[in-house]
Amino acid sequence: MYTDIGSILRVAAKNGFAVLATSPINMEIARGMIRAASEKQAPIIFLLGQNMMRQHAKAEIVIPMIRALADEYTNVPIATCLDHGNDPERIMYAFRNGFSSIMYDGSLFPFEENISKTKEIADLCHSFGLGIEGELGHVGIAANGDEKDESIYTDPDDARLFVEKTGVDCLAVAVGTAHGEYPHGMIPHINFDRIRMIKEATNGMPIALHGGSGSGDENIIKAVKAGINKVNMVTDVFVQCTAKTRELIADDPKIPYMDLMMKIEDHVSSFISHWIDLTGSEGMAGKYKAIDRMGLLTRKCRIGDSE
Ligand SMILES: [Zn+2]
Repeated sequence: MYTDIGSILRVAAKNGFAVLATSPINMEIARGMIRAASEKQAPIIFLLGQNMMRQHAKAEIVIPMIRALADEYTNVPIATCLDHGNDPERIMYAFRNGFSSIMYDGSLFPFEENISKTKEIADLCHSFGLGIEGELGHVGIAANGDEKDESIYTDPDDARLFVEKTGVDCLAVAVGTAHGEYPHGMIPHINFDRIRMIKEATNGMPIALHGGSGSGDENIIKAVKAGINKVNMVTDVFVQCTAKTRELIADDPKIPYMDLMMKIEDHVSSFISHWIDLTGSEGMAGKYKAIDRMGLLTRKCRIGDSE
């Protein structure tokens, strides 16, 4: 079932679980992820970043593949989302190529400018039936140690104003995680009180944790309990694929390439299953029901809480 992040995350926020958001840069990874979501009966969100699409995973190829898989796995809500869109050309590219949602990242702009730019994209998204995520505070880079810089954490009162003025469906917050790989052995300190305060200030609005990779299982479980509804985890998928490839070739240097790819797909599937467990979304696909309708840019389902 192909839908947008707003439709998926409103149900998650109402029922107190999170949805895994991760990046399917090729067929094996995409299929492994969707298989896991289907087996767990969990909604899932697929992210593609601007550079990811420039360098390798072209939306013209990846989005139709995801939508074909969504047609195959009709009982699982699936959304696609441009990740950290800030280049107008890339945002239009995402619109043209059938994304169901856009994350607009204006987090490096001053507060008022972030609001006005995000609202503009949010209005555009909603007029075409797409979901929209904004970011307030700034989720930085793990290699720079940004996760420790509390001056870039999200302020709860600002979050309330931002959500009211922009009309976003989901808010990405900075609460102690960062993008990419943390230094070896380091697990970030997440400010769970800050998550609870933002959740309360925004009246239960869906909020997203970026930089889930390497954040530690216990941290993710506690973050979801505190109010997170979308967990972005990208780096760890690629780390896992590289490590598994190395292991399979070491075990059998003559392994046929197709066998290697099939084993990678299986590995992605079991790795994603573990992350679905952390988000508490197992079995939650049953809370969604589909009402098909034709969209202008993308075939969408308007879905609601079946309860
Ligand atoms: Zn991010």
